Amino acid sequence: MFHPESFDRIVCPELPDAHTEPYLFSLVVKHMVHGPCGLLNPACPCMKKNSCKYNYPKDYSEATKYGTNSYPIYRRHDDRHVINIRGSQLDNRWVVPYHPYLLAKFNCHINVEICSTIQAVKYIYKNIYKGHDKILYTLLGDEQDPVVDETKNFQAARWISPPESIWRIFGFDLNHLHPAIICLPVHLENEHVVTFAANQALKPSSFKDLRTIKEVTYTTFRDDALTLGLIESDNTAEMCIEEAACYLMPHALRKLFAIVLVFCCPKNSIQLWSKFQDFLSKDFAQNRDLTPKMINHRVLDIVDNNLRSMGKKLEDFFHTDKDMSLDFDDRLAKDLQTECDIYVPAEDLLAVEQLNVEQKMLIIKSYIMFVIICQVLSLLTALEVHEKHFYIEHFLLRFDQMVT
Ligand SMILES: [Zn+2]
Repeated sequence: MFHPESFDRIVCPELPDAHTEPYLFSLVVKHMVHGPCGLLNPACPCMKKNSCKYNYPKDYSEATKYGTNSYPIYRRHDDRHVINIRGSQLDNRWVVPYHPYLLAKFNCHINVEICSTIQAVKYIYKNIYKGHDKILYTLLGDEQDPVVDETKNFQAARWISPPESIWRIFGFDLNHLHPAIICLPVHLENEHVVTFAANQALKPSSFKDLRTIKEVTYTTFRDDALTLGLIESDNTAEMCIEEAACYLMPHALRKLFAIVLVFCCPKNSIQLWSKFQDFLSKDFAQNRDLTPKMINHRVLDIVDNNLRSMGKKLEDFFHTDKDMSLDFDDRLAKDLQTECDIYVPAEDLLAVEQLNVEQKMLIIKSYIMFVIICQVLSLLTALEVHEKHFYIEHFLLRFDQMVT
């Protein structure tokens, strides 16, 4: 059921001919016409925010085709055929899709829709797993200020339908999975409980033993398994970035690089960085004012920001290489850059005009004070004064007296 033409064999969203199919026509009129709603009847229960939540009336369409939200757009001819429903003249656009046989057989409202796109999987999954019906109710006694115990309320109001209760009483399985998947406990080093007799000579006897093959001790179990041929060499992270480098812009590539670091656990992050460094910094490399070191730091800084948005940081991946971390000067430069990048709205800048004379004086005094303190500090630094403690409070007090 993938071709819209085949939908027409099952679903019909039009009024049948009253003369050739009088019985079907009477049933469609009785059960399968929506509304009227919209302007014809704004008080209709289907009206949400001034429009019909089921999107009636539908549009006319010459042929059935795929819709944008997984519901097909059915063929609805503009044949001027109208009927009077609840006081309004309605046409094919108001007919709820039905299956003629089912409608005639059961004589009730049965909406039949075609859902053969991949989204049907999601729909069915949701309906199976959304859980059973629940009712929340409160029984109040005579007490004025009843204590609400939410947990108790939830348990007391849990409603189980008859089939489910029988199913549980007989102890049938509530779910079944084949083949059974069992989560086996994994014990990492120093996170386990092991008991063994002292006279038992076990081999291997430690995690280090496990990581040692032919007298070579590997740093990770992964390398160990790789050497034993238990797993295949995994360079998917590298392949992923290599492929992406062909078409992604550096900005997007840096994001991907961070994602790969966090979620793909590449074996050697530094190697990965060295290999793709040029691709990752292509945009900054265009700027002739930047030295290779500055470019490096800028790119790493962005990668660091991306990592931090995922709860990690650069140091988690490049802790062994000193060059990879940003030194203090760069951090300071970054902080200054961040400060300079802050956008100050014009109205904030103009707000100073609304201050009274005293307020303006205070600001000017603070600014002068700030400049003087900066000068004094730089002077002290220049003179290499080791004892830099002096009493700012006294200084400020004296200054204040001077100005006023
Ligand atoms: Zn409606």
